[in-house]
Amino acid sequence: MIRLSGISKDFHLGVQTVRALRDINFEINPGDYISIMGPSGSGKSTLLNLIALLDRPSAGDYFLNDRDITDLDDDELARIRRENFGFVFQFFHLIPRMSAAENIEIPLILAGMEPAQRKTLVQEALETFKLSDRAGHRPDQLSGGQSQRVAIARATILHPSVILADEPTGNLDQATGKQVIDLLEQLNSGGISLILVTHDAGIGGRAPRRIQIVDGIITEDSGKDQA
Ligand code: ADP
Ligand code: MG
Repeated sequence: MIRLSGISKDFHLGVQTVRALRDINFEINPGDYISIMGPSGSGKSTLLNLIALLDRPSAGDYFLNDRDITDLDDDELARIRRENFGFVFQFFHLIPRMSAAENIEIPLILAGMEPAQRKTLVQEALETFKLSDRAGHRPDQLSGGQSQRVAIARATILHPSVILADEPTGNLDQATGKQVIDLLEQLNSGGISLILVTHDAGIGGRAPRRIQIVDGIITEDSGKDQA
């Protein structure tokens, strides 16, 4: 479904160049559950951002369903992103002045959906993610676990084919983190590909396919052993 071929990413800071990713090659197939682990600064977030089309590679090619989309313009990439990817962050990235329901509604507004249909879908999502009694609460009135459930509801309301989660339990206590992982794994069981970045070896070890990144290079990919 997604294939990265020879992807590199450099960041230029003044005269300094940071080589965040080097010659990354790998594939994501429908329904995959992949964990990405590696030291801080090894390029994990950079890789997720590239997969989610939030950033562009410095070199290499990005194929979606065998089509090379590397050089599409920003509007086209934004549309592909909305249709295919849901992103979940460590610090939730909810809009502070909006209620839980309004945060979940944002992708539907961006997609140009009618208000009546938006309302129905948001109600369903609130029920699915056990947030109905928190619909009117703002992020500062939610617990960490509730905030992450709002973020996951927002990330999945348009039925993406891939969920990308960047240390989604990094700001949660262990029990709450476990619930968030269970929720993501349930979504994966329903057929959504799950790409999970984590520092926690216990969590990362749950994924059938595990990738290690060190200094911008994939040093281990358990998926390659099976091939
Ligand atoms: P990780 O998520 O594994 O901790 P990152 O992908 O955030 O690592 O960062 C990889 C490297 O790229 C680091 O050296 C980081 O400082 C650098 N980097 C990331 N984003 C930027 C940016 N926007 N500008 C400059 N350097 C960056
Ligand atoms: Mg990171």
